[in-house]
Amino acid sequence: MAADRVRDPIPRRWRFPLLGVAIAFIAPLGWFILQIPHQGLWSWPEVKVELANHALLYGYMTLGSGLCFAIAGYLLGRAFDAIVREQREAAAQATLMEGLNLRLEAISVTDELTGMYNRRYFFERLAEYLRAARRHRLPLSLMMIDIDHFKRVNDTYGHPAGDRVLRTIAELIRSGLRASDISARYGGEEFVILLPYTDETEALRLAHRLLTTVSSHPFALPPEAGPITISIGLSRLDVEHPVSGEALIARADGALYQAKHGGRNRVALADAAAETEAAHLTGE
Ligand code: GH3
Ligand code: MG
Ligand code: MG
Repeated sequence: MAADRVRDPIPRRWRFPLLGVAIAFIAPLGWFILQIPHQGLWSWPEVKVELANHALLYGYMTLGSGLCFAIAGYLLGRAFDAIVREQREAAAQATLMEGLNLRLEAISVTDELTGMYNRRYFFERLAEYLRAARRHRLPLSLMMIDIDHFKRVNDTYGHPAGDRVLRTIAELIRSGLRASDISARYGGEEFVILLPYTDETEALRLAHRLLTTVSSHPFALPPEAGPITISIGLSRLDVEHPVSGEALIARADGALYQAKHGGRNRVALADAAAETEAAHLTGE
């Protein structure tokens, strides 16, 4: 607003009439110049006589054309002002829509509670990264995370407290990832992380770090709640025997099941080679 005022101090509907009045002086001036050689107006007394003799004509030209130009300038300026205003309003509207679209786009891929990506977005990215990993023979790992005994948290401290734990765990997960990793809320208290360019050693290291981060985090719960822990199932893409995203998720899910049954608060790694072999034998 302030910047506009600096750039555009007087509206055109007032500036243009002023310009019109200035232009209107051209008519009497032009007429006078034409009279110089014609009437021999080479001295001030001659000029005075000329002006006095044709005062009405000069006055008429100055005022008449001044008025006409001023009115035309006003109308033209008003039309210009309207166009400029419309253009500014349209530009403002476009900026607003752009912001709104970006926001809608963000909402459509975001889980409301945790602010993480949602499943739909995750599956889209997973398909893309899988294609790239297969084509360029790049490592890729996938992590399924499930909060241990989360039902107890809800049952003991209430659903809102459970929601807070969920949000905190989502933050802890996100803060431990690289920019290229894609984390999403997979289901109620389950998260999934896609780790492009990551082999199983690196993925295991990250998973163990996450376990420690979560189990040592001071959640806003009464001390008797004890530590909150997670279990993690890991799967990796075997570039020699590539599988679909769903299969990769199923493997990580199977590994997660093993982690739960192994006592929770632990990581289990899906054996890609063994499963590929099994799938081969069963004709999958
Ligand atoms: P396990 O260690 O075997 O995973 O036990 P668990 O209690 O975590 O697993 P279970 O599947 O029995 O319970 C999951 C609970 O997660 C039940 C459900 O109420 C809770 N839950 C799912 N979504 C949400 C949510 O959005 N907010 C809250 N507060 N709780 C949720
Ligand atoms: Mg679960
Ligand atoms: Mg659970």
